Amino acid sequence: MPVFPHRAAFSFDIEDWHHSELNPIADARPEESIVVRGTEAILDLLASHGWHSTFFVLGEIVREHPALIRRMVAEGHELACHGMSHRPLWKATPESFRAELREFRSVVEAALGHFPVAGFRAPTFSIDRSNPWALDVLRDEGYAYDSSIFPMKVKMYGTPGAPVGIYRPSREDLCRHDPDGRLVEFPVAIAELQGLRFPVGGGFYLRALPLTVFRAGLDFILLHRPFVLYLHPREVAPEARRQPLDPVNGFITYVNLHTVMAKLEHLFERYEWTTMREILTDEGWLPR
Ligand SMILES: [Zn+2]
Repeated sequence: MPVFPHRAAFSFDIEDWHHSELNPIADARPEESIVVRGTEAILDLLASHGWHSTFFVLGEIVREHPALIRRMVAEGHELACHGMSHRPLWKATPESFRAELREFRSVVEAALGHFPVAGFRAPTFSIDRSNPWALDVLRDEGYAYDSSIFPMKVKMYGTPGAPVGIYRPSREDLCRHDPDGRLVEFPVAIAELQGLRFPVGGGFYLRALPLTVFRAGLDFILLHRPFVLYLHPREVAPEARRQPLDPVNGFITYVNLHTVMAKLEHLFERYEWTTMREILTDEGWLPR
């Protein structure tokens, strides 16, 4: 294992195959669900390497599969919030978002008893310049960090100009660092080279890029700062039902699903991994 000055975080957005914004579907049948099988495969792999991760779980999944959440927590992973039902925050109001966070808290309490949740990631990275109020709601509801601002423009989302490293979003401008800000932003991995930004944080990039290229991007970032990657259970469950999608969405959704587990094995051997909360604490962004 090469030695880097920072540790890395892997995060998993725990939702089912039909929650993807690219795959809207009304007739998903319960027997087609892959969320338990996919999450268990991820938990098994993490256990075999001895690493801890952050799990941004949908409240619906917490409610339907409390045993899965109890296993996650018992094995030392960080439980974080991905909203209740995967509705992007572009469709929310401050009041509905606050109600959603409170509902999430109550389903977590039903599964685990009183349990602190520090981190939030919006469905479809849906916090941007159009809804900075969402960060205020997170602050009010006691969240310590967010991972929803995607610092470049891609097809469905993005906030060009936002910092690529960890920062404290200012209340006036969510792209500006405020040293006194209470909420910390930990954006997913973007490699920056000569002013150009390359997304390398997500499952799509892990699947679509050759591993050597993906790894070079991560090595480069880790020399300067920690990074966080993200992946979904559906990406380790290639057998999940496939939809006839248009060519672009089909490519994004299905390319190279069969390569994911082997690539994860490789990454788990190459880097030192821990939870996002642990990194933020270690690097002085959150109090211990
Ligand atoms: Zn999601």
